[in-house]
Amino acid sequence: MLKKIDRSALFLKENTALFQCPLCHETVTNKEKALICPNKHRFDLSKKGTLYFLDRQIKTEYDNQMFAHRGAMIKSGMYQPLIEQLAIFCDNEQVLDVGCGEGSFLNALAEKTSLQPSVGFDISKEGVYLATNQPQPLFWCVADLTKLPFADQSFSTILNIFSPSNYQEFDRILKPGGKVIKVVPRSHYLKELRAAFYPDEPEKQQYSNVQVVEKFKQMYPKVERSQVTYVFDVPKAQRLSLLEMSPLEWGVDPERKAALQKAPIEQITIDLDVLIGKK
Ligand SMILES: [Zn+2]
Repeated sequence: MLKKIDRSALFLKENTALFQCPLCHETVTNKEKALICPNKHRFDLSKKGTLYFLDRQIKTEYDNQMFAHRGAMIKSGMYQPLIEQLAIFCDNEQVLDVGCGEGSFLNALAEKTSLQPSVGFDISKEGVYLATNQPQPLFWCVADLTKLPFADQSFSTILNIFSPSNYQEFDRILKPGGKVIKVVPRSHYLKELRAAFYPDEPEKQQYSNVQVVEKFKQMYPKVERSQVTYVFDVPKAQRLSLLEMSPLEWGVDPERKAALQKAPIEQITIDLDVLIGKK
């Protein structure tokens, strides 16, 4: 079994053409365990086999704990019907997972289908380090959505699950005929959690994806849209993770949270739109 860094070095060697310098946009070459551009910008593999493409430290509010809880929920089957649907569109594709977090979605897809060499990135170093623990042979890096370290026309499918978009960059790195798959919450997504966290704040219980969907339609007028809605029985062992897995948890009254930890939510509604746009 190869060490993480050696597995990633092999990936870089075989897939150098996927990357470009995010600072000057030049082509990169692979030298041992690094990528280097003609202007001497250099990106070295970390011990965990990740590349760090940011030119400054960016602190995000997503910490290790939240990613670990999110990973536990995805592994528990909370998103299985979504993963089944995404798998149909990812088979044999070269996938870029935008905002991959701890990598659970891309790993689950790699288990279900055969992917071409695929990459996940996130702006959070914590998430990407956790992703290196995923068993599937995927490549993980830390990068900025607005300055993607990938070459023009390098991927056939972009996955954009619960994360921000940069359609200009997506368009640049997509192969002709490639597609963007965007997953956005619908109004009832996690409604039990919203109601339990914010019973007296109806505005926090509302969510509308109209603006996000409209923007996607402007980019991809022939969008295919499908709805994925179901109620998930939360396994006992994951009920505390459910409370900690999303930004909804930020700002919850501590007493209310303590009460919920004693009497956790047993069922949770998943209500999503899957948008598919073709280049
Ligand atoms: Zn450069």
